[in-house]
Amino acid sequence: TARKRFGQNFLTDQGVISSIVGAIAPDNDHVMIEIGPGLGALTEPVADTIDNLTVVELDRDLVERLQQHPILKDKLTIHQGDALQFDFSKLQQPGKKMKVFGNLPYNISTPLMFHLFEFAEQIETMHFMLQKEVVLRLSASPGTKAYGRLTVMAQYFCQVVPVLEVPPHCFTPAPKVDSAVVRLLPYEVKPWPCKDVSVLRHLCSTAFSMRRKTLRNNLKALLSDDDFASLNIDSSMRPEQISVPQYVAMANLLCDNKK
Ligand code: SAM
Repeated sequence: TARKRFGQNFLTDQGVISSIVGAIAPDNDHVMIEIGPGLGALTEPVADTIDNLTVVELDRDLVERLQQHPILKDKLTIHQGDALQFDFSKLQQPGKKMKVFGNLPYNISTPLMFHLFEFAEQIETMHFMLQKEVVLRLSASPGTKAYGRLTVMAQYFCQVVPVLEVPPHCFTPAPKVDSAVVRLLPYEVKPWPCKDVSVLRHLCSTAFSMRRKTLRNNLKALLSDDDFASLNIDSSMRPEQISVPQYVAMANLLCDNKK
């Protein structure tokens, strides 16, 4: 039976499963990695078409089932543990980038994406099943309600492409929310390079701490009126009205000011 604390909602709709596998486009030229394989709804059809699939699963009982699976056991490299703590760089193989995918446990999807962004340079594509609301946040444009800290960080690292909406009845048990699949394509060359990503992360958390306040108010401990003027940014705007390149420009100025 599904474990609520592990965010277990197993995919059961065959049409949705084949659409996702098609989007992932499994191949042997990439290190293929699945997060949270569960009972293997995506694992089986993906492993079917390739030589090896690495999976990271937290639930020991599910890991045991996968280890005993008649078809999968020869193709899987299984890591039992928390994907949030997992060092994905140790899966790297010479000359190969990674393709990461998973129907993620929704309670950890945001921290997990932040964790994976740290390995973005080694990743070719990511495909995740998420709460639809989270996909809307990832792909949001400035000036909309969904635009926030997650949007800026995701769009700093990746091109974001919504792929498919998935209603609750496609899962067992059915989740309480609508779901959607998103494709994240890490930039090979960043369009707006940041001197220090940890500064950008801190700036975004601070800027969006009070969405109703102006940028100037939220960032008054970090940037002066002169700083905003030199960047040509109107500090009376709200944090959601500021574009990703503008956030990167502010972070880079902060880095320079620190020197
Ligand atoms: N991929 C399967 C499917 O589509 O039917 C299962 C998806 S279920 C939403 C999420 C899976 O992630 C479960 O198998 C759960 O045990 C596993 N999981 C939960 N937290 C995890 C974590 N921190 N690290 C790795 N796996 C986790």
